[in-house]
Amino acid sequence: MTTYDSEDVQDLLIIGGGVMGLFTAYHASATFSRVTVLERGEIGDPTTASFGRTRSYRKDYLDAVYARFADDAITLWTEFERATGRSVLVRCGCMNIAKSSVTPELDQTYAQLTTDVLAAIGMPLEVLEPGQIAERYPYLSADLAHLDPVAGLVDLAAVTETLVATLHGRKVSVHERVSTSALVRDGELWRVQTDAGEFVARSVVITAGHGTNDVLSRIEGCTLQVPITKDRPSEAKYFVPPAEDRARYTSDVMPVIAYLDTGVYVHPIVPGVIDAVKVGYYNPPDIPRDRTGVRDIADFVEQVMPGLSSASSSDVLDVDQCDYDLVADDDFVLGAVPGAPGVHVGVGWRGTGYKFAPWIGRVLFQLALQGGTVYDVSRFDPDRFSAPARFLTAGSEDHPTSDLEAVL
Ligand SMILES: Cc1cc2nc3c(=O)[nH]c(=O)nc-3n(C[C@H](O)[C@H](O)[C@H](O)COP(=O)(O)OP(=O)(O)OC[C@H]3O[C@@H](n4cnc5c(N)ncnc54)[C@H](O)[C@@H]3O)c2cc1C
Repeated sequence: MTTYDSEDVQDLLIIGGGVMGLFTAYHASATFSRVTVLERGEIGDPTTASFGRTRSYRKDYLDAVYARFADDAITLWTEFERATGRSVLVRCGCMNIAKSSVTPELDQTYAQLTTDVLAAIGMPLEVLEPGQIAERYPYLSADLAHLDPVAGLVDLAAVTETLVATLHGRKVSVHERVSTSALVRDGELWRVQTDAGEFVARSVVITAGHGTNDVLSRIEGCTLQVPITKDRPSEAKYFVPPAEDRARYTSDVMPVIAYLDTGVYVHPIVPGVIDAVKVGYYNPPDIPRDRTGVRDIADFVEQVMPGLSSASSSDVLDVDQCDYDLVADDDFVLGAVPGAPGVHVGVGWRGTGYKFAPWIGRVLFQLALQGGTVYDVSRFDPDRFSAPARFLTAGSEDHPTSDLEAVL
């Protein structure tokens, strides 16, 4: 075992500088002085999942565990804003909708089922009467609308800028364009070999998105490979409403609108962030294509959001040219890397991770440097993928059908 000057040993080395890695560094650097981030590309690269304009935050999950964690994450976002003095949340609310001509069984829609889940855990939503829907949102044609006012959009540029500035102020070392070749155990420490030299750390966190399996394969003694696959929205469009209608579509009056049974979500105009309504269409792999009558965004506009038909539209090309990281069993992968003491991993956010970022960063920091987390994250244990016989294939019949949640 090599002897190192304690000044040269990092408390925590994070591989992957997306939002999860940066939030892990944010929490760790509040109390630990030697924190390093290694990023293969550049922080803020628009081709990675963490960068773009807006991501929705909400807590309407079919699974109460995710709903509770999302709720905690909202508290942590608010603390982040308070601590940094920067506003990063657009508090416009999120409204799930349904229409009986599109999904005839209204009581089985995502909107109704998640409302039931939230009500059962004491997070009631505002249920709008049909008359109220037409009055408040004249551009919509929906029979059911459930609004959560404690939800909305995250301003990604503001988050990245604030994280980078805060980490800089706390003297966190962020190394960009670094390629990692090996992680070698040396006594209680890890030697991380890169093309920018060797780093020594007592704890390592891997938040490398789709690069995670490559990093895992470079860890001495580790056989874990996480079954993640890539997917992305089938279609995403910007709609610019005519000037006389614009005021109806801004985030002070329009919430995020989601019709997840059809795979569609709509983000309002956010002045200073995005000057168009964004509509994303995601075709969940396990949902029969004939399950709803909505085939694409044009169809959605015609049937559900006719007010947008007079808007000019164009494809979203400036952002979101990146992929979701779907997991075979549709659960987060968060915890210790088997066979590699002191190494933790966080990946597999199923297209729904951004809203959880301050919470995930906190959990990874606690696991890495505090010997455990206050949360029960045992169901996310990466070790579930250690035995090859237990591997599931994304899209197989064994795959739990919470794919509807794998957006936003
Ligand atoms: C189109 C789209 C829309 C989405 N919408 C929403 C939404 O509305 N709400 C929501 O909550 N979530 C949403 N998500 C999900 C969310 O954006 C992601 O879950 C989240 O950004 C993942 O962050 P990450 O840090 O894990 O991954 P990434 O952003 O991919 O970051 C991983 C980083 O690791 C780096 N890396 C890879 N390999 C290495 C290596 N060997 N060494 C060093 N660095 C490495 C990469 O360059 C990258 O910078 C969406 C995702 C997509 C793609």
